[in-house]
Amino acid sequence: MKIGYNGATAIKRSNLELDLELCEKYGFDFMELRVSILEDFFRNGGTVEKITGLFAKSKVKPHAMNACEFFNMKSGQEFEKIKEDFDKLCSLTSNLGSSLVLAAPTPGVNAPPEIIMDNTVDCLRHLSDIAATYGLNVALEFIGLPGFSVNKFDQAYSIVEKVDRENVGCVIDLYHFHINGSSVDDIRKADGKKIFMVHINDAEDRPAGTFDSDSYRLMPGDGVIATGEIFKALKSIGYKGIMSVELFNPKIWEWDPEMAIMTASLKSKQIINKYWDASM
Ligand code: ZN
Repeated sequence: MKIGYNGATAIKRSNLELDLELCEKYGFDFMELRVSILEDFFRNGGTVEKITGLFAKSKVKPHAMNACEFFNMKSGQEFEKIKEDFDKLCSLTSNLGSSLVLAAPTPGVNAPPEIIMDNTVDCLRHLSDIAATYGLNVALEFIGLPGFSVNKFDQAYSIVEKVDRENVGCVIDLYHFHINGSSVDDIRKADGKKIFMVHINDAEDRPAGTFDSDSYRLMPGDGVIATGEIFKALKSIGYKGIMSVELFNPKIWEWDPEMAIMTASLKSKQIINKYWDASM
């Protein structure tokens, strides 16, 4: 099982180059790219060639672009803009040597489930067509926070099944899975090949319904998520993708980035090693 690092974890005090240096030092296989971190890098004079040069010298490889945000349930004109921006994002993803773009659903939508289903399937087929011209895959990440239009695993998986394209799959983020009551049984019923990526983390012990932000994410193994059950289910369906650690914890943002990335690596490996070999 290969492990990845998502730059959100130490975003406040780190940057792309430092992330990469520390990911190599602490044994990450992949780094998940985040749009805002790349924008900062470009604003400070960085170029695509500089990034590909840095990755060429590193054992760490780029994996997944995070993300095309809020792509569904838009007006016609708004969705044209989403497609334009998605095309640019695919071009960047491809130039940086990555093969997957994540797509996150829109919050604050007031519509019946069947309308959300039909619209999201249609939008993902458009994104699938664009991604295919670059040879890329698209992964839908359901967001368990209040008000998101795709907020549970079974809903996201049904959408992906209905899209029925080889280059479209799901992301399971353990935090989003936990906070909105997704079911491990639904993972057992899924096709492992349709899960393109897993975000690992843990969650504070809070009553259901009180998770109103991402700030209650903890390091893998430090909280109450039934990670073992989820990992066993993923293993039973042959999941072989990447486990990428992703936190948005303001307390951890204050840590020295080296401490955050070292801890993220150690804790990810500890928990993954119980079910897979993290060195494979
Ligand atoms: Zn995530």
